[in-house]
Amino acid sequence: MIDLAVRGATVVGPRGRYRADLHVAGGTIVALGTLATQARTVVDAGGLLAIPGVVDSHVHFMDPGETEREDFITGSAAAAVGGATTVVEHTHAAPVRTAAELRTKTDHLARRSLVDFALAAHVWPGEVPRLGELWAAGPAYLKIFTCETHGVPAVPAGHLLRAFRDVARWDGIMLVHCEDDAITRDRADALRAAGRTDGGVIPEWRAREAEAVAVDEVTALARLTGARVVIAHTSHAPIVDVIAAARGAGARVWTESCPQYFYLEEREVLEYGPFRKFTPPARIRNAEDADAMWRRLAAGAITHVSTDHAPATRTQKQTGDIWACPFGLPGVETTLSLMLTAAASGRVTLERVVDVLCEQPARLYGFYPRKGTLAPGADADITLIDPGRRRRLADRDVVSKAAWTPYAGREVIGVPVMTFVRGRLVARDGRPAGEPGWGRWLPGAGGQEVPS
Ligand SMILES: [Zn+2]
Repeated sequence: MIDLAVRGATVVGPRGRYRADLHVAGGTIVALGTLATQARTVVDAGGLLAIPGVVDSHVHFMDPGETEREDFITGSAAAAVGGATTVVEHTHAAPVRTAAELRTKTDHLARRSLVDFALAAHVWPGEVPRLGELWAAGPAYLKIFTCETHGVPAVPAGHLLRAFRDVARWDGIMLVHCEDDAITRDRADALRAAGRTDGGVIPEWRAREAEAVAVDEVTALARLTGARVVIAHTSHAPIVDVIAAARGAGARVWTESCPQYFYLEEREVLEYGPFRKFTPPARIRNAEDADAMWRRLAAGAITHVSTDHAPATRTQKQTGDIWACPFGLPGVETTLSLMLTAAASGRVTLERVVDVLCEQPARLYGFYPRKGTLAPGADADITLIDPGRRRRLADRDVVSKAAWTPYAGREVIGVPVMTFVRGRLVARDGRPAGEPGWGRWLPGAGGQEVPS
């Protein structure tokens, strides 16, 4: 018996689009095409696009840790509303540094997620010798900071080299936040000494040079050790090009970026202050800077897109001065629509949007072909999109605890209207559906049983 039939949609994948009915049984896609079999539930998706659910590989749901900012129940509901069916989460305030801490967190989240989830672990300077044991426990990736940020210590070059050699040995994968610690410290000292507390502090403190120096170091270590490395939230085109050159020279490096580096401008921080405090900060100064990012996304130099959802409420953002307020933006529920809008205006193809949001992250972190594709045998993670629907983004529609969006007032074209995780409806028309607890933990490659 078929549990669910989605009829009449145009299925979009990285390599093209075609009309097909999707048939689901036991949470899995069992057939594409026309089937005569009866289905328990039939969804008429005529006029809609069906894509594999978004695999948002970089979110912070703060649970446990800072649940007054977000928790897994609200964060995963926001993800479902935004068309994401899998998230990869890590929280700086309660880092997972050991195998035991990973197990404690997966237990804690057993009934708190609406969508499927994987977890990342933090590489902590004192824990570098035990990384192999941590990897085998099943984090999706190991997160490294090259600079002190959000209270997470910098991993200095000596420890980086040791970690990279280790990760290369067991073919793990790391996500590295690249800003040079010495430069950001020096900039902070100078700006504080000058008594600066205006929004302009952010791009001067988190300078382009700091990002460039760290990316040079990290890509060099990747090339020298053979470790697989994702450069997190790549903020502007010259950095994309440095990473592409390293890839050309044999480094196993990937380039993650986020909507804020395509849509938000550097000068906005002067007006909006804490509501544009994230790092690396927005770098766009003119239309050509934005075009340069879109061209690199279309051409493949930017390999995938995540959200870096790191919400804080308006009150939390306005507590203390620009130095003290939290970094980060909400975004898990707006990323897909913002990328669809770029497809509607011809900046990228719909196929490329599906590639960078769904298939590439699933492949990178070991979830493909269970996730990231609509094919027989895959989990029935299906996002239905109304490609022509226009919506003006507004704070009042935000499901995240943040309750605001930096994109308020912008019109998007292309809206997720239904989201299914393993065949179950988890969101419809901007509202979550079903109970948290449906989402399951996905072990990363190091923790997956290798079939013999
Ligand atoms: Zn992040």
